[in-house]
Amino acid sequence: MGTSERLVVIGGVAGGMSAASSYKRLKPDAEAVVFEKDAHISYGACSLPYYIADVVKDIHDLIGFTPESASKERGITVHIRHEATKLDPERKEIIIKDLERGNSLTIGYDKLVIATGGIPIVPPFGGVDLENIFTIRNIGDGLAIKEFIDERSPKRAVIVGGGYIGMEMSESLRNRGLHVTVIEKMDRVLGSMDSDITQVVESKLKEMGVELRKETSVESFIGDGKVEKVVTDKGEFPADFVILAVGVRPNTELAEKAGIAMGVRGAIQIDNHLRTNKKDVYAAGDCAEAIHLVTGKKTYIPLGSTANKQGRVAGENAGGKDSTFEGVVGTAVTKIFDLEVARTGLTSLDAKREGLKYFSTTIRNRSRASAYPSGKPIVVTYVVEKGRGRLLGAQMAGEEGVAHRIDTLATALYHNATVEDVARLDLAYAPPFATVWDPILIAANVALKKLKEQG
Ligand SMILES: Cc1cc2nc3c(=O)[nH]c(=O)nc-3n(C[C@H](O)[C@H](O)[C@H](O)COP(=O)(O)OP(=O)(O)OC[C@H]3O[C@@H](n4cnc5c(N)ncnc54)[C@H](O)[C@@H]3O)c2cc1C
Repeated sequence: MGTSERLVVIGGVAGGMSAASSYKRLKPDAEAVVFEKDAHISYGACSLPYYIADVVKDIHDLIGFTPESASKERGITVHIRHEATKLDPERKEIIIKDLERGNSLTIGYDKLVIATGGIPIVPPFGGVDLENIFTIRNIGDGLAIKEFIDERSPKRAVIVGGGYIGMEMSESLRNRGLHVTVIEKMDRVLGSMDSDITQVVESKLKEMGVELRKETSVESFIGDGKVEKVVTDKGEFPADFVILAVGVRPNTELAEKAGIAMGVRGAIQIDNHLRTNKKDVYAAGDCAEAIHLVTGKKTYIPLGSTANKQGRVAGENAGGKDSTFEGVVGTAVTKIFDLEVARTGLTSLDAKREGLKYFSTTIRNRSRASAYPSGKPIVVTYVVEKGRGRLLGAQMAGEEGVAHRIDTLATALYHNATVEDVARLDLAYAPPFATVWDPILIAANVALKKLKEQG
């Protein structure tokens, strides 16, 4: 390698490749070297449920760059199947293990971006090592699950966890004709979302033949080599295979051992320039924390949308620019069969946990003018701070018009809007797209009325 300035990036997916790309844009003559321990880089894990469902036919459609195209088109050097095993921030060196050959080398850096991502949580259930228990995180997991279904023609799947990945996988596996049981230990799906929204989702699951078992805790898995049953506190469920989807934790072992400070939920502590506590070391994506702009506190919300933005900012700062990433408002959207379900900001449960004084309102409306055919029901819940009437969060479910509406509310949250501000928004109207009072405005007016009644 030459003597020019060198950026090293650990991890070659959303955060890592964004960092390397933005660095190279600023410093075309410098080196950007990415080490990725897996065989693939720059892919959208978000599409894995659709690949398994056979909606996306070719796994290559998920991949943005190969090591060859990253080199050719962006000037980034990528080493796949190379794992960073030790980091010395004082000497500015990393030990990299070549996983194919088994040998290790030491490489120096001028700037470093840690983008080691997240790891699916695997609780220590008895029998968790049995065959045919899968997690879903990367291309290898997607290929393994799809191959298993294609070749073994299983009949029954159990999904542990009713979060958004569990929900997307329930649709995916029903599409493949499987009997699907979802086991969720909380009293609702989708974590902390308000029950006015989760009830819509649960009705949809029922309609689509998904067996949902709430307030049920997995205890162990049993089987002869391969999983056959999932044992819970509410009985046993037969399973030809299991998908564990109980959440993600930050992958920070390497950083932690190097003395890099950890923050909220064990994620790497960063400032708004994505700097860690060690000089010239940045972190981005699912391994790192972010500021929640509604609470003003650090949070851990691992999403691809954030990983790309954080990666870009980390790469720009490593390249000498003065860029900031101010934070997130917790916006997410998912498709569950023909439902769009979305959230931004705090749910009622989140607001309660934060000790905020809040109230919530829910309205039910239609996505289009009543005169125009094919409008669909849409449910909107707002969480509002008492007193000033600041919008704390919004959630929505419906068969159309949810995703773009939540983005409007995410924008409002980003700018610290009150429900009165939202009620005054000049939103677009024509019968095929909305009702003359858009559901966003109706919900804001209802919330405003409730706010005034409370004095
Ligand atoms: C099924 C599914 C659906 C999803 N849907 C959505 C969605 O709809 N919207 C959304 O915003 N997000 C979604 N996500 C989340 C999104 O995929 C992640 O937030 C995103 O991949 C994070 O990118 P990252 O680069 O931070 O981390 P990762 O994607 O975890 O990549 C980190 C990489 O670092 C590598 N690595 C780790 N340690 C080392 C080491 N020591 N040496 C070398 N390499 C290392 C890992 O092998 C990994 O490839 C989904 C995720 C899944 C699994």
